[in-house]
Amino acid sequence: MRPVAPRALSMLVSTLEEPDGKIVEDSLDTSDRDAFLALREYGLIKATQDAPLALCPWCGEHDIEPRRMDKMLQGLCPECGYIPITNASLKAWSADPEWLLVQLRLALGIASRQTSEELVPGTLWKVGDHRQNQKVWRILLARRLSDHATNQAFRAALVEKVERDTAVIISTTSKSLALVSDLSSPYVHLAEIVHLRSGKLELDKNRWDWCLKPAHLRDHDASTVFFENFRLAVLDGEEYEFSIHQGAVFSYLHAAQGGKCHKDSIMEDINSSQKNPAEIFRHNPRQMEGFQRTVEWNDFGFYWLKR
Ligand SMILES: [Zn+2]
Repeated sequence: MRPVAPRALSMLVSTLEEPDGKIVEDSLDTSDRDAFLALREYGLIKATQDAPLALCPWCGEHDIEPRRMDKMLQGLCPECGYIPITNASLKAWSADPEWLLVQLRLALGIASRQTSEELVPGTLWKVGDHRQNQKVWRILLARRLSDHATNQAFRAALVEKVERDTAVIISTTSKSLALVSDLSSPYVHLAEIVHLRSGKLELDKNRWDWCLKPAHLRDHDASTVFFENFRLAVLDGEEYEFSIHQGAVFSYLHAAQGGKCHKDSIMEDINSSQKNPAEIFRHNPRQMEGFQRTVEWNDFGFYWLKR
């Protein structure tokens, strides 16, 4: 199941993020099928209440509306009466924010007596209080911040309901789409700080610690590979020179201490309009070679420095 996990997590995150928030079973391509089955097996997605109509499996002539009765799905066909519907006939699934809140409390080690609090219906929650670095952080979970109305409601709640400078915002919206660069609170994409393992979320402790550090204290210790503000790399005695923008990519990845960084966060941070770090290197074969020798990435848009 392990190779499926990153894709399952990314499917879960995008389902939470998208406006209608549904996984439509029929529209999945085969590469997403295993991730979908894992999410279903772990109970991380559930059949939506407003599932689309199904064709009556008995007469095959009438549309029937699936409803849950006595723990079974049934539909009332005008001709055949109540008909049991197997789960397989149901097409739409949604992720459950409640599950996510419970998992985040567990992953962060938030005391079990704490309950989460909904600050804006359906889009912003206070997950709980979390003590770290001699400070109590209010952990918030936000989603769909690229939507203007949601973003406004999020900002109003931040001012009214959260003490100044105590919030950490965990979100399913990428930083560049969330339009939050004016906020002083740490902002982190959910997929950057957790892993999905056996149906549970695990915190990436290093990455999380790094997120909570004030920007000026983030680790900029010396590198054994990069020199001159990351404009120069020396690999097995071979030298590679880079542009300022390229150096900024290395600097960002270096500060994450081996942690995986999402392309949107990187590009936002270095003020680049390119869609991912590789784009900045690909026009120069020599620089691209240096990039490939030092950086790894995956299909989910995450980049990290090779050890
Ligand atoms: Zn029928």
